Amino acid sequence: MEYTIKNAYCKRVWDEISVRYADQGHFLQAAGLVLETISPVVDKMPELEKNAVLERFVEPERIIMFRVPWTDDQGKPHVNRGFRVQFNSAIGPYKGGLRFSPEVGLDVLKFLGFEQVLKNSLTTLPMGGGKGGSDFDAHGKSDAEVMRFCQSFVTELYRHIGPDTDVPAGDKGVGGREVAYMFGQYKRITNQYVGVLTGKGLSFGGSLARTEATGYGLIYFVECMLAKIGQDFKGKTAIISGDGNVAQYAAEKLIQLGGKPLTLSDSTGYILDEEGITAEKLAYVKEFRANHEKVDAYVKKFPKAKFFKGEKPWGVKADLALPCATQDEIYLEDAQKLVANGIKLVAEGANMPTRAEAIEYFQKNGVIFAPGKAANAGGVAVSGLEMSQNSERLSWSFEEVDAKLKQIMTNIHDNAYETAKKYATEGDYVAGANIAGFVKVANAMVAQGLV
Ligand code: NDP
Repeated sequence: MEYTIKNAYCKRVWDEISVRYADQGHFLQAAGLVLETISPVVDKMPELEKNAVLERFVEPERIIMFRVPWTDDQGKPHVNRGFRVQFNSAIGPYKGGLRFSPEVGLDVLKFLGFEQVLKNSLTTLPMGGGKGGSDFDAHGKSDAEVMRFCQSFVTELYRHIGPDTDVPAGDKGVGGREVAYMFGQYKRITNQYVGVLTGKGLSFGGSLARTEATGYGLIYFVECMLAKIGQDFKGKTAIISGDGNVAQYAAEKLIQLGGKPLTLSDSTGYILDEEGITAEKLAYVKEFRANHEKVDAYVKKFPKAKFFKGEKPWGVKADLALPCATQDEIYLEDAQKLVANGIKLVAEGANMPTRAEAIEYFQKNGVIFAPGKAANAGGVAVSGLEMSQNSERLSWSFEEVDAKLKQIMTNIHDNAYETAKKYATEGDYVAGANIAGFVKVANAMVAQGLV
């Protein structure tokens, strides 16, 4: 993908990293799109080049890599690779999830960490950005195997994290079970009961509404986007990909607000329910997913629905598309299908599910597009609220946290919208989110000197 990077300083930094990290395609896509869209504001901030802000902005402050030895239930040893990318702490302690998935390596974690810096800045909470994880694949592993893996992972990670240093959370492949095992091991090694991880269970420092936060937050964000064009969810159909945490709670809130989800998916294919996925049907999705069953379980229970093995849902006709599974879900040809089918709005629940060329196609064809760093920031925002509750030794009610989440998503939306109007094109949420997130971090980096 060619980026049109108009500012000379942004272009120079892009030329340098595109050679240095030529093997890190995901990181380069994330960085390229940011350097392209922040150009207008970098034009107005000569202090950035004087202080080498961009050269520092594209390099993680620290990368920790380690081995994770563990034994399976037969006593056979295995060794995975563990990582923590501590990207930027200009505005707060590093904060960002841990992903356990075979694709995990430096490229994926650097792109996620880079995006996280801007996302956390947008939430207005004092959080820097980081990301970590392992190439461990939890599919088909027993609870005891997952526990031994998590304990081994934290036996190294614990020395690099802490409530005022770096506070990891879950991500793909890391849910409540894994966070609990990691929290237990951290406590055992350090003899400290502190808020070092978020997404914890409710009986040991977790926040109400954290489970729902990313999916609900996505829908609150889309509600603001629709309001800008004088519309709401009533009667609108939506294609949703994924059937995990983000997809489930996006579908739940969408249904509550009068919309109709038509699809869900996983790595085996997608299901289409033309009658619409209702709250009752969604309860069954949560049940089969918790039992580690695949998405075709849906059609066994609701035979009017159809299962499309090995396919993605982007050919289904609907009003809205919400990719909520993983990166690289929507390529140019998928975007062309969506536009041909009359899709009006795409908002990312996952991180970077849309390829840069597909985003460009949406924008050129009048589709309103919201990037994940703005639209899926609800999860990390409530993680930030979990940190506040842990520090205060208090728990807020579900309603209190949900109201704060809604307010934060509205603020992120308005900030991205107004920033786009000021520096780029009205309605360009990609530019708006990148510029708004960047300026706050860049100002803090200038103020703190060359560190
Ligand atoms: P889950 O692990 O709960 O669910 C992931 C979903 O994506 C599953 O349906 C999974 O299917 C599917 N999936 C994974 N890999 C692929 C693939 N290669 N092709 C097709 N489908 C795939 O993760 P989350 O819902 O937590 O996260 C989803 C996305 O949202 C990720 O990009 C994550 O970074 C992002 N995100 C999550 C946040 C959170 O709070 N959870 C916060 C912000 C962003 P299967 O089970 O078959 O692998």
